[in-house]
Amino acid sequence: MKRTIAGIDIGNSTTEVCIATIDQHENIVFKASSDVMTTGTKGTLDNIRGIKEALGKALDAANMHLSEIDKICLNEAAPVIGDTAMETITETIITDSTMIGHDPSTPSGEGLGVGETILITSLKYADADRSYIVIIPKEIDYESAAKLINESDKRITGAIVQNDEAVLVQNRINLFIPIVDEVKYIERIPTAVLAAIEVGGTGKSVQSLSNPYSIANIFKLTHEETKRIIPIAKSLIGNRSAVVVRTPHGEVKEKVLPSGKLSLINEKGNVTKVNIDHGAAKIMDSISHMKELVNIEGDAESNVGNMLKRMRRELYNLSNAAMQNISIKDLLAVDVLVPIDVKGALAGEVSLEKAVAIAAMVKTDKLPMQMLADAIFKELGIESEVAGVEAVMASLGALTTRGSSLPLAILDLGGGSTDAAIVSKDGTVKTVHLAGAGNFITMLINTQLGLNNLSLAEDIKKHPLAKVESLFYIRLETGEVKFFNEPLSPKVFGRVVVCKGNELIPIETKHSLEKIMMTRKAAKKDVFVQNAVRALREIARDHEIKNISNVVLVGGSALDFEIPHMILEELSYYNIVVGKGEVRGCEGPRNAVATGLVLSKVGRA
Ligand code: ADP
Ligand code: MG
Repeated sequence: MKRTIAGIDIGNSTTEVCIATIDQHENIVFKASSDVMTTGTKGTLDNIRGIKEALGKALDAANMHLSEIDKICLNEAAPVIGDTAMETITETIITDSTMIGHDPSTPSGEGLGVGETILITSLKYADADRSYIVIIPKEIDYESAAKLINESDKRITGAIVQNDEAVLVQNRINLFIPIVDEVKYIERIPTAVLAAIEVGGTGKSVQSLSNPYSIANIFKLTHEETKRIIPIAKSLIGNRSAVVVRTPHGEVKEKVLPSGKLSLINEKGNVTKVNIDHGAAKIMDSISHMKELVNIEGDAESNVGNMLKRMRRELYNLSNAAMQNISIKDLLAVDVLVPIDVKGALAGEVSLEKAVAIAAMVKTDKLPMQMLADAIFKELGIESEVAGVEAVMASLGALTTRGSSLPLAILDLGGGSTDAAIVSKDGTVKTVHLAGAGNFITMLINTQLGLNNLSLAEDIKKHPLAKVESLFYIRLETGEVKFFNEPLSPKVFGRVVVCKGNELIPIETKHSLEKIMMTRKAAKKDVFVQNAVRALREIARDHEIKNISNVVLVGGSALDFEIPHMILEELSYYNIVVGKGEVRGCEGPRNAVATGLVLSKVGRA
């Protein structure tokens, strides 16, 4: 009997549909496919809105009507949900307004200026035998400030301005001195103390104030004192300009914050504790050495502890499973440096602090997919069933990739988790689910670049960068130049942009193109290269990794323009053929599960 089947894969991020007809001879003809964003948490009734939308899209493409569908097959969705959190482990504190680093957008002048701080209005009373750095509070406008400097007979080596007026002052004075502006709390800068100002040369960042020995030389520091100013030098690396002030009692401290412990619990109830502030390598090492890990808990006062608790509660509310059947099965930790406001700073400075970012995965026995199937039947009047385990279906779909054969491993690079399966020659399937996937990369980009904008971070992840060098051309991150016939918007001029198709999206930060690119690549490597190896080690435990001859990459993150290459490079070392799936020769790495659901119905009328 001829029948029309719709396979529907509800993922954490995406709902995918595949429509096909199977005739009386069990020949299958694929009609259309589609994908939309999943509505609500996977496995809940909120998903129905997305399901209807995706079905509608596919039916339109196939020029068919809903009533022509005989059966809907849902995947037995992997009962895993991923989430991410971050734990900062260092904090820089400036006490007694001591030394500051500052990076305004438009400093002026060039070079290093060293002198005693003095209020510009007190200049006329100052001793003649010293050098001075003048402080210009906001009440003194640039005209008056320039006049006071020009009329003074004292040796002036630099200026600190509260308003955003460094260039305006510079243009009106007969000296060429480094000037730093936008110092918000200028009144907190002590007077009559030694200070140094530096503005980097064209295209350069500060050279002296980012070097501990230069700072030691300027301020005549002892060996012990030099050790203590390392956080300052470190926080000034890459800045275009900087100010460092020395007061008798001031101090900059790099404090290590207590960030709690993770408890790894095994089947026998044995607990291994690992300190979060020992860093990612230590955490991952402990996890990989843990046999039969059944749950992970975090200290109550830590961010990670709270996240793990929240995730378990969420899945509990969703699945009606008993709380003890919901556990944190895996965790992926990555060391990061995040820009964080310095406590006690004078101009809103930020310092790069060490942190550990963590993606975790909660797992329960089963998601209530049958309930969803019942609801679909009620709403659409179409017979609906839960038809197959996600990973098995994904393997069936992935096998439609030309050139693949059994034994086959798939890596499903999704949003919340990295799922892997291995299908042996006799058809048995072994699966693993690992924490950390596409959404974790977006979070790593967002926090490390201090963007505070997840959708921009998502765009940075998915598309290449360019620098807008003139109104008529841009330089792509590959070095290539691209010309335009029409002038570009002045809004993007001089900026680093994301090239999203024909759209250029400006990135509002001071980071260079190289820095953004490096952060993007490192995040992808930390998450997916690490997870690919972890997953294959896990599923190949009984065999050797090298017995897995082919790996097909599927899922949304396999669409990435560099992740498949990174994985290929890493796995080529193990002699494994790995590549992006070509599901049915036309879907790329998408639609594997939905396709598998339909295929699983062939021969089962
Ligand atoms: P799920 O199966 O969990 O619903 P998907 O397979 O749809 O997840 O993968 C979602 C992830 O894929 C998201 O993190 C998203 O950012 C990422 N993604 C989607 N398209 C692209 C792309 N073109 N490049 C890189 N990542 C992408
Ligand atoms: Mg998926």
